[in-house]
Amino acid sequence: MTKIIAYIGLGSNLITPEAQIKSARLAINALDKVQEQAFSSLYRSPPMGPQDQPDYVNAVMAIVTELDALPLLRCLQTIELEQGRERKDERWGPRTLDLDILLYADHCIDIPDLIVPHYGLTERAFVLYPLQEIAPMLELPKLGHINDLINNCPLAGLEKIV
Ligand code: ATP
Ligand code: CA
Ligand code: CA
Ligand code: CA
Repeated sequence: MTKIIAYIGLGSNLITPEAQIKSARLAINALDKVQEQAFSSLYRSPPMGPQDQPDYVNAVMAIVTELDALPLLRCLQTIELEQGRERKDERWGPRTLDLDILLYADHCIDIPDLIVPHYGLTERAFVLYPLQEIAPMLELPKLGHINDLINNCPLAGLEKIV
């Protein structure tokens, strides 16, 4: 199996979000056939959807992996559950940890449980800005250059955490 570069979006807004992101980073690195290639700064962003919840802490991680995309998603979902993620009916409600596959090399995937590139990527500052930080030359399949996407995506309250 060839080695693939994939990008993962991390988000948390419950129970010490910064610590959740850091422990998710360790857990992802600890996965077999996965290793970190780059990790962005941490960012703070206002919630999407329901506004009666805390701000989010977000980051983007680049990994090198020999896992296929769906097994990778399953591993990420296990880490979410291990860190106390509860599945609720409310869309975009508060959560201890959200791990999304943003990109999987230049593959376009559309199966019931997995759409890649992630469908929300072009509209989400908390994804695009940390992605640009670690991959400033990135060409996204079907979507074009990261800089062109950034130019069409206002910060919307996103702040780098220093
Ligand atoms: P959003 O998908 O808008 O960011 P969310 O992350 O809160 O919202 P979840 O409840 O975490 O949504 O996931 C819902 C479903 O999305 C999951 O069951 C998963 O199968 C599916 N899914 C589809 N594409 C992806 C992807 N690229 N990364 C992660 N999950 C995905
Ligand atoms: Ca590993
Ligand atoms: Ca998400
Ligand atoms: Ca998710």
